[in-house]
Parts: sequence; structure tokens; C-alpha cells
Amino acid sequence: MALNTNFDAELTQAIEKLKTDRVYKRLNYLDSPQGARVQMEGRGEVVILSSNNYLGLSNEREVVDAGIAGLERFGAGTGSVRFICGTFTVHRDLETAIARLVGTPASLSYVSAWNANEGLTASIVEQNDFVVSDALNHASIIDSIRLAKAITKCTTAVYAHSDLDDLKAKLEGAKTARRRIIWTDGVFSMEGSIARLPEILELARRYDAIVVMDDSHGTGVLGRTGRGTAEHFGVLGEVDVITSTLGKALGGAAGGFVAGPEALCDMLTQRSRPQLFSNALPPTVAASALCAIEHLEAHPDLVTKLRENTRYFREAISEAGFKPLPGETPIVPIIVGETATAIQMSDMLLGEGVFVTGFGFPVVPQGQARVRCQLSAAHSRDDLDKAIAAFKTVGKKLGII
Ligand SMILES: *Cc1c(COP(=O)(O)O)cnc(C)c1O
Repeated sequence: MALNTNFDAELTQAIEKLKTDRVYKRLNYLDSPQGARVQMEGRGEVVILSSNNYLGLSNEREVVDAGIAGLERFGAGTGSVRFICGTFTVHRDLETAIARLVGTPASLSYVSAWNANEGLTASIVEQNDFVVSDALNHASIIDSIRLAKAITKCTTAVYAHSDLDDLKAKLEGAKTARRRIIWTDGVFSMEGSIARLPEILELARRYDAIVVMDDSHGTGVLGRTGRGTAEHFGVLGEVDVITSTLGKALGGAAGGFVAGPEALCDMLTQRSRPQLFSNALPPTVAASALCAIEHLEAHPDLVTKLRENTRYFREAISEAGFKPLPGETPIVPIIVGETATAIQMSDMLLGEGVFVTGFGFPVVPQGQARVRCQLSAAHSRDDLDKAIAAFKTVGKKLGII
């Protein structure tokens, strides 16, 4: 039997269209750990301004060593899903540490935040429930809600980004629902903006709703000691459910979690499909993540350094004439307009030894294409100055500044 060549031809054609539409993503291969600077294959050393490695923990000696020790002690993998024979003591230790960090009674780990989110909504809603979601929520939340709607026939709605009048109206219209759930990102990754959490919590209490917050870009980043968006606003312990990733500030490897009441974690152990039908987090990754949390708790100065680097970069890039979206997070989007400009700018910056990604439509609205910079505690002043100089050179060439 011959292969189905139509299939291949059709896909090739679809890819050509992505290239004409300038939304095709070219991969760059790195040949060193994540850090302030990385070795890019064919390019040599570049300053990286695109990583979620906010605290520099992905190549922290202690975190790497903990992973090696975990690998030696528990072996390469779990060999099973959690409820069969894939639960290790390191999972429990990690989950205790996560709950302590984010300020909830318990937590449950997953192989990714994507999985944690995906399995969550359908596990906690029924037909007569109502789920309302911020318009800029992460794709994993959107898919989680779509899945819950398809499975349970619950009612859903989307409120305009951070528009609390709209959220209020949506909750007002769902008073007869059995349960109301408000789903929001803690930090919106394309804008670098922070959810208006205190007001969301107030609305939730008024309308007897549950708040579920995905803090993937907040954990380890926001708050005085990096405990996230809740710490930032002084409302630790007041968010019903927090989900987040272990793949960003907390070591950057992989893994995610749902944190909340004991009963929720127990229910997810029973019901959440990625938990039931997919292998548990590899013990070596769990050991690194556990160590990353302990390292953060012992070194809150990393969070201070991240904040200082962010302030320094924001000020310098604004002085240079760029107009970054205002904000307090280490995500600094520089709006350039057209997608082609964002991609060209990113390519030119790479030519100057700075690796930073351009985003265009449909990831962000039409006409608001951007180069999104992300700061890290790993950056030295020297790294930041090199990046700023490259932005000035490229910005002038492109006539942006
Ligand atoms: C990155 C991210 C995720 C996915 O995290 P993984 O652990 O890599 O699956 C989910 N939600 C948000 C808000 C994110 O930023």
C-alpha cells in the first residue's frame, strides 16, 4: 500500500499559506541551558529576552542537582498514571510545598499547567452551572471551558478583558445557576497586565461565585516574596482555586498544578481526566520543582532583583523612545503595529545578538503586533544594556524611534 500523498500535499499547501500570511513560526535551536545568555545554534551567544525563566532557576545549581538526585533515587519515569502505581513520595512533598507557596490548603500536580487547566472545569461543573471567563484568558483555559461545555452542557460567557462591569452583568444574569465560576489569568501574558483580583473577589462573594485563577506568569514573579498575584494584592488565602505552571519561574522544566481545598484535590484525583489517563510528573522534574520552591523561599531577593531589572529595562526602553505597554510585571510588550514589522524587528534584534520574539495577529489583535520582552533575575546590568543598545539600533533603522 502506498502512503496517502494527498494528505502530505494538503498540509504542505496549508503551511505555505502560513508562510505567506507571515504567521509561520521558525524554530531556533539552543545548545545551552536557559539563562541570561544562551548559545543559539549557528549564531553563538545571544542575550535572551523571551524566556519564562523569570528567576533564573532553570540552570540554578541546586535545582539541577535536586533533579539529578531525584533521577538517581526514583529512576527515569513513573511507569504509570497516579492512581495505578505512579504516585511517588516526591509528588506529595512537591504538592505540600506548592500549597504552602501559593497559600491554599492543598495542591495536585500535573505534567503541565495545560493539563491541570484542561481537566479542571469539567471536573467541577454540572449542567446547571455557569462559567465566566476573561476575554484574554490563556488558550488552555478557553479549551478547558469548551470541553466542560461540551461534556456537561453548562452555560458559559466571556467578559471583556478586565471589565468588571461586564463581569458583574454576566454574574447578574446567572443568578439562577447552581454554581458560578469566574476563571481568570492572574497575569495576562501578551499584555503583561495583572487581573483586578481584589474587585473580582468582591464580586465573587457578592454573587456567591468561585474564583479560579491561573497564575502561571505570577507564581514566583509577583508579590514581595514571589507567592504570586494574591500576594501582590495582599489577598493570600482568599482565592478559591489557583492553577499554575512549574515550567516558568519555578525551574522552567515542566509540570503544573491545581491548588485549593483538600476536597477539590481529592475530587480531581478521582475525576480529572489528564490525572486519570496520563502518566504522572516524572520524579526528576518533581524533585527539581520542589527544590525551586525551596530555593525561592530561601532567596526572596531573587524576586527583588527581578523587579529591579524590570524597572531598569522599562525606564531605559521608554527613554530610548519606545512605548511599552505600562505595567508592573516583567512582561514588557513593545507595540509596533503590523505583524510584519514585529517579525522584522525580532529578526534584526537577533542579528544584534538579542533573542526576543515578535507576536502578531491572531495571537494579538490586528494592528497591535508587538515584540514581547521578558525580564529575568538572571540578567545582569550588562545583559540589559546590551539589549537596550540593540533595541536603539534596530528601532532607528526601522524608524520606530
Ligand atoms: C504558560 C501557560 C500555561 C501552560 O503552562 P504549561 O505548564 O507549559 O502547560 C497555562 N496557562 C498560562 C496562563 C500560561 O501562561
